Amino acid sequence: MRYVADVVATMDEDCRVHRPGALDVAEGRIAWVGAAADAPVTRGLGEERRVGGLLMPGLVNAHGHSPMTLLRGAGDGLPLERWLSEAIWPKEARLTPEDVWWGMQLGCSELLRAGVTSTCELYLHSGAVADAALAAGIRCVLTPGIFDLPGAGPQATWQRLLEEAAQLHADLDGRDGLLRVGLGPHAAYTLPPDGLAAVAKVARELDALVHVHVAETRAEGDAVRARHGCGVPELLERAGILDGRVLAAHAVWVADDELDLFARQDVAVAHCPQSNAKLGSGVARVPAMIDRGLRVGIGTDGPASNDNLDLWEELKLAPLLARAVACDASVLGAVEALRLATNGGAAALGLDCGSLAPGRVADFVRVELEDAAFVPAQSGEDILTLLVWAASSRLVTDVWVAGRHLVSGGVCRSVDEPRARREVATRARRLRES
Ligand SMILES: [Zn+2]
Repeated sequence: MRYVADVVATMDEDCRVHRPGALDVAEGRIAWVGAAADAPVTRGLGEERRVGGLLMPGLVNAHGHSPMTLLRGAGDGLPLERWLSEAIWPKEARLTPEDVWWGMQLGCSELLRAGVTSTCELYLHSGAVADAALAAGIRCVLTPGIFDLPGAGPQATWQRLLEEAAQLHADLDGRDGLLRVGLGPHAAYTLPPDGLAAVAKVARELDALVHVHVAETRAEGDAVRARHGCGVPELLERAGILDGRVLAAHAVWVADDELDLFARQDVAVAHCPQSNAKLGSGVARVPAMIDRGLRVGIGTDGPASNDNLDLWEELKLAPLLARAVACDASVLGAVEALRLATNGGAAALGLDCGSLAPGRVADFVRVELEDAAFVPAQSGEDILTLLVWAASSRLVTDVWVAGRHLVSGGVCRSVDEPRARREVATRARRLRES
């Protein structure tokens, strides 16, 4: 299949923009991309679709708990520690796998409609998360949550959850070419040191990604320092976590020497500006991370601390906050922000999506250009800049994952969203009342 569009934004190394551009897709991967006039004459290519608008890689959500659609809006106004212990964990302890399946289905529909084609998920009842993601057709890095969930009893101890995660890795890693399975030790403050060390050992054996909340709030760092005599990054290093492939979510309160440690150990970061702002946690030092060559992606976090799964909002907020904090308009350019949301996230997760280049998976989205947001763009770079500052997810009309057309006309075809909304509303009421 060949797609011809008015604009193709590759988000490759050089951020090339082709106007008009063509994209050839075969067997779920990109076979060729370039200026439409240069498109090769290929026998047996099949259909050519003129889609107009702009094609670009799908966005990569580097940190999410999408089934938390069930808890959307819970605990507004509380700081992280009270938000977790009073508004979130008591409800999560009562979740069933069916609740999580429906929560994830609704989350997938919301993500896909916003042009998000990959998501890194850390949650409970991970088998249900995997099934719901595969049913929706979204690309997913599943990192089953591992910690002692307060109030959940022996079903949710870190030992039990680590065993289940390793089993899920054996059963599901690589499924449908869409699902990767890693490990999700919740945080340094919700797992004992021997739990962190056990996770590190299993992760090394499986060569699995470790996805962990790191230094999200100042209070987290203070508590870890009081208990263990060192900061969160050093505690993770002592436990052996940093010896493997690591994705650190948030990393708001990290000092220069801790960022240097991340750089030495090639730790990737998922920056979640909106969740950090809503919970009053602070602003991560993204420019300092990029200066050190860290792989950085951006994430929505869960829809109870955001409160939606629209990564376009993060895409705009990340550079806005970085500039506001630095009092410097030259910090974190719009094209760089776009790179973080696509290729940067893919690199952070170890996925071969995030740019339109031959050999990469065919995860791409169409953005409507017939909109005031793109007037009066002149150059290709103008269009990329306005994608960040003026456009939004409302202009995403179509979404493909591995070449499969999942969203058309702004509607997610792979999820029964009206049913998912009803199911989540009913189940959320039960969680609130019981
Ligand atoms: Zn999180």
